[in-house]
Amino acid sequence: MSQYNKSKTIIANWKMNPKSYSEAINLLDAYIENINNNKINLNNINFIIAPPAIYLQAIFLKLQKFNICLSAQNICWENQGAFTGELSASSFKSIGCEFAIIGHSERRIYNKEIDELIAKKCLVAINAGLTPIVCVGETKVEFDNQETWRVLTRQLEFLKNINTHFLVAYEPVWAIGTGVSADLAYIAKITDYIRDIFNSKNIKILYGGSVNEVNAKEIFQLQNLDGALVGGASLDAEQFAKICG
Ligand code: PEP
Repeated sequence: MSQYNKSKTIIANWKMNPKSYSEAINLLDAYIENINNNKINLNNINFIIAPPAIYLQAIFLKLQKFNICLSAQNICWENQGAFTGELSASSFKSIGCEFAIIGHSERRIYNKEIDELIAKKCLVAINAGLTPIVCVGETKVEFDNQETWRVLTRQLEFLKNINTHFLVAYEPVWAIGTGVSADLAYIAKITDYIRDIFNSKNIKILYGGSVNEVNAKEIFQLQNLDGALVGGASLDAEQFAKICG
């Protein structure tokens, strides 16, 4: 954690990929090779990988000499007990994780996660010493109905009471995995809006949604934005290195 707090933050969300341990290690090796080949200075970026939980410990052991942090993709809303199949924040912390993605839209959609549950997970993460990366964003229908501001205000409400450091990833659902990124002016407007809500708080704001090697440079030039959360493009080590470089 000592190295966390640089100007640009890039998170690789591997989601439920790769499909085997050996493929995960191959991807990690390809990351390291491309970081070296592209002379990417990890002292200049907060580089965070969120692999499937089952690969985390092996990845942690392999990454110890690199300035790369690890994140859980999800945590349980409780920290211990009879919750079969769940994984606790403190168990992630104990194997080297520093962050937890919370409220990703895929979990809101497929696991029916609601704001109250997401708020609970955030507190559990903080109590266990993890920094939350809270994902927010409107669906296509909400976007078309111009409900973005209302949705974001509702999704962000609970964070007003949190006084430790956290990250907000603005990820319009219609831009995730579609190849259609939000346009720059729109991202800038939303980032300003989120920053206004938390004006004096120590937070970072990221954009996520079809970030790739072509649009990353422009996105990173937005003044008020601290970086990006990358899904699909993070599974291609060469492309991901270009995003980081
Ligand atoms: C995501 O799932 O958080 C994401 C941003 O995915 P993608 O980059 O593939 O749109």
